[in-house]
Amino acid sequence: MNEKEPDIIEIINPATGERAGTVNRCTKEDVHSAIDGAEDAFSGWAAKSPRERGKMLFLAAQEIRNKQVGLAELLTAEQGKPLSEAKNEIQGCAAVLEYYSSISGTVRGDFLPKSDYGYSFTVKKPLGICGAIIPWNMPVLIMAWKTGPALVAGNCLIVKPSSKTPLTSLKIASILHRCGIPEDVLPVVTGSGSEAGSALAESRKIAALSFTGSAETGNFVEKLSCGTGKRLTLELGGSDPMIVCRDADVDSAVAGAVAGRFYNCGQTCTAVKRLYVMEDIAEEFKRKLTEKVSQIKTGNGMMKGTKMGPLIDMEARDKTAGVIAGIQEDYDAEILTGGEIPDSPDLKCGSFLEPTVITGAPKDCTLFTEEIFGPVLPVAVVKNMDEAIEEANRTKFGLGASVWTTSLKNSFEASEMLDAGIVWVNRHLKIPPEVPFGGEKESGSGRENGLCALERYMKEKTVIMTP
Ligand code: NAD
Repeated sequence: MNEKEPDIIEIINPATGERAGTVNRCTKEDVHSAIDGAEDAFSGWAAKSPRERGKMLFLAAQEIRNKQVGLAELLTAEQGKPLSEAKNEIQGCAAVLEYYSSISGTVRGDFLPKSDYGYSFTVKKPLGICGAIIPWNMPVLIMAWKTGPALVAGNCLIVKPSSKTPLTSLKIASILHRCGIPEDVLPVVTGSGSEAGSALAESRKIAALSFTGSAETGNFVEKLSCGTGKRLTLELGGSDPMIVCRDADVDSAVAGAVAGRFYNCGQTCTAVKRLYVMEDIAEEFKRKLTEKVSQIKTGNGMMKGTKMGPLIDMEARDKTAGVIAGIQEDYDAEILTGGEIPDSPDLKCGSFLEPTVITGAPKDCTLFTEEIFGPVLPVAVVKNMDEAIEEANRTKFGLGASVWTTSLKNSFEASEMLDAGIVWVNRHLKIPPEVPFGGEKESGSGRENGLCALERYMKEKTVIMTP
């Protein structure tokens, strides 16, 4: 017989192994009652004007900015990222809410040319009750990506944070509630993916579900949702390539690679996960990269000077360390820096791993073919742009990609040829709220951010009027 799971989930600080907080373990029944509550609240919420709803988001964004230090400290405690990165994420969350508030007055349909049947126009309506399933790596920013457009459009949204990082999301939700958004319009169900997450995916009452997480879970959620008639957005994993051309500004490419791979301890969907550098500049690039990466100060995100925190938990750390060990065992690859689990007393209780750069591994090994969600950067040398593009596209993923060059021709050619939902030139990672974001191939379908996310949370009704 299965032992009943405890009613409480413990949230563990990945830097110390200590308890950062506890939340309720919501059951399927809890999710169903949140859906029922949202159904009751929907008509009142949908009847408000988009601008009225947008104003509440704006007020919430202001309060989030005012409280950013406390919120960032909580985010660091539950997720591990350095405090400066946590502050960035809290500010990013506020910026997304402000953006959707600012475009709330633009919700509109179309007036169509007069036909033989009279006048026709379309109106935009909310979908109803929507769901949001959120991962642990950027819990607050991703919550805003879904909450902003869903609420402005007039939907209720049931939020399911990752059971590893629900604490800051709960605080953000309570700020939104205080700013006028009813709790039944925006309930947060804390619980496991298999119980609370599945209940959202399986429910026929959920009109749209936006899922962000791994490709594996996303595929499973797609199966659970099949036949329920819901609109599904899947924002899944990636293995973003970065191409450094021979005409690149090497120093800025090195800085871009360091930030692109080691931000959030390498646990970002659009992190630089594979790097292809052209042979003419490869030695200089690798030398400078190794120097910079070996200077990254790893530690508790609350400590001044920390540049990289721990991985989310010991399981994630051991998995990534296992990949490094496997590569060393199987191939004649060279670890340029890092590769070890640090053993200093202050890091012993946390899930830390040294920032690692590997070169010489075959271009078709796990490092290049799978999503490695940790601080490991494999560097491969290529002859020219053709080879770089071929290698970059040789993947099942298609989330982001970047090319580093001073040539206009290379910029256009690469942005045209790379199979990715977003291509950066001389940059990697940053995405402003108005820019559509999403993947292709196994990195998912649908878009978040920008006007298109707002459209995704609305349906269109056509009216034909014969005078
Ligand atoms: P995950 O797939 O393990 O979990 C994501 C969410 O799904 C969590 O809330 C989890 O509880 C829930 N879940 C788990 N099983 C479920 C089920 N059976 N039914 C419904 N929900 C379920 O992912 P993670 O480890 O939290 O996040 C890391 C992954 O997310 C990486 O692959 C990363 O690339 C990806 N990611 C993608 C984007 C993007 O926008 N494309 C952004 C951030 C993270």
